[in-house]
Amino acid sequence: MFCAIAAGQIPATRVLESDRTLAFRDLNPQAPTHVLVIPKEHHADVAALAKAGAGLLDELLAQAHEVARAEGVSETGYRVVFNTGADAGQTVPHAHAHVLGGRALTWPPG
Ligand code: 5GP
Repeated sequence: MFCAIAAGQIPATRVLESDRTLAFRDLNPQAPTHVLVIPKEHHADVAALAKAGAGLLDELLAQAHEVARAEGVSETGYRVVFNTGADAGQTVPHAHAHVLGGRALTWPPG
């Protein structure tokens, strides 16, 4: 499904884009800033993305931090989360970082 967003076949509110990554707003935001950052290339989860190498995970994380700056939460604080597998609640099998901020985030998460 996120491949279709990357291809522009499903609409999304885009925040930032590079050749290999795309950042767009989560459909069901859990915080004032809730942006997803994906590799355009398909990888099922962050473990597969890390294994793919070629600096793609580095680029995705750099993009996540750029999103935080663009959203104005880099000073107040933000969280970058990769849900991985069923117990973590991963529902979309395409690697994605959640960038969350704009309010005090509880820890540990529920
Ligand atoms: P996960 O639970 O896999 O870590 O996160 C998937 C996220 O994708 C959820 O927060 C969900 O709200 C979001 N999401 C699911 N489908 C869509 C969609 O079609 N568009 C957008 N923008 N977000 C989506």
